[in-house]
Amino acid sequence: MMQPKMWLSSPHMGGTEQDFVNEAFETNWVAPLGPNVDGFEKDIASFLGNNVHVAALTSGTAAIHLALVQAGVTQGDVVLCQSFTFSASANPIVYQGAMPVFIDSEATTWNMDPNYLEDAIQHYIAKGQKPKAVIVVHLYGMPANMQAITALAAKYEITLIEDAAEALGSSLHGQPMGTFSQYGVLSFNGNKIITTSGGGALVSASAETIATTKFLATQARDAAPHYQHSHIGFNYRMSNISAGIGRGQMQVLPQRVQQRRANHAFYQRHLSTLPCISFLEEPTGYYSNRWLTTILCSQAANTPDRESIRLQLDAQNIESRPLWKPMHLQPVFQNAPYFGGNVAEQLFANGLCLPSGSNLTTADLDRVIGIIKNLYQ
Ligand SMILES: *Cc1c(COP(=O)(O)O)cnc(C)c1O
Repeated sequence: MMQPKMWLSSPHMGGTEQDFVNEAFETNWVAPLGPNVDGFEKDIASFLGNNVHVAALTSGTAAIHLALVQAGVTQGDVVLCQSFTFSASANPIVYQGAMPVFIDSEATTWNMDPNYLEDAIQHYIAKGQKPKAVIVVHLYGMPANMQAITALAAKYEITLIEDAAEALGSSLHGQPMGTFSQYGVLSFNGNKIITTSGGGALVSASAETIATTKFLATQARDAAPHYQHSHIGFNYRMSNISAGIGRGQMQVLPQRVQQRRANHAFYQRHLSTLPCISFLEEPTGYYSNRWLTTILCSQAANTPDRESIRLQLDAQNIESRPLWKPMHLQPVFQNAPYFGGNVAEQLFANGLCLPSGSNLTTADLDRVIGIIKNLYQ
């Protein structure tokens, strides 16, 4: 008999979400504003600390878009973006008519390599096309090398945007991810560490940035009794229903981080003894929420490769997935310039994300490692 589907990362409710949603119905706050939106923003701000301000939005993609708009990115501008990521990190660059330029990853964090970043910055400055913004990503929850990257952004005076969509609950030397730059991006899509069914947020230390974000996200209405507009606006504000789910989810976020980290520890304990499977370690001071557990399979002869593991799990109704295909290899970005070597490319060739939901049972995890171990017999 076929076992039920085991997902890579599925929603995991804490229990109080529906109370907040019911309250929204009872008070008729069924709109893209209301007490749940305000409450959810407060919950995120107090979780991130450090005087953080938050605008709850319809998606993480919308948050990146509004960060680029506020950074003044327009037609023809150069924006430097990590290549090893989900396409949503880069698509808003194109919404603005700007030119994405992709940067390879470093082997130690799998995130943006500061050396290639500086090469690219210098290249475009020399051409008289100083980059308008840099988008760095904390992929799978692992913080990027923010010490080096924030220093480069400061040195060359370029706006930094931090895509922390996968890294809520991660930190670097104790500082939460999303708070290292003027614009931090969060996502609450259904597969993320917590979800609002779909949603995102822009976070910033600047109250003014967040006030402008909320203005732009609600059709950019000027202060007037009639509808008056002196800017192009967007309809990007989070609904009060979604935010109610988010308020419930924030109550269990610390547990969700612990559960994801426990999944990672379990896989590492049982699989790192196999020849040719390796895990991404946290460098000193790095704390990952381990949103997804990822393994690398070496290409040694006589050991199963990434694809044979994925297919074997799939045959048992278990979802696993290759690591993100780098943006510079995507057909849609085939003409975009790229600075780097083959780090991201090799990660894509050999890496696999294992089922990582916080709602997986020990029996589920045992099944996964059993199937993988069997392939090695
Ligand atoms: C999920 C994700 C996004 C986009 O967030 P949405 O809320 O789905 O729009 C952006 N970047 C990365 C790295 C993501 O994983």
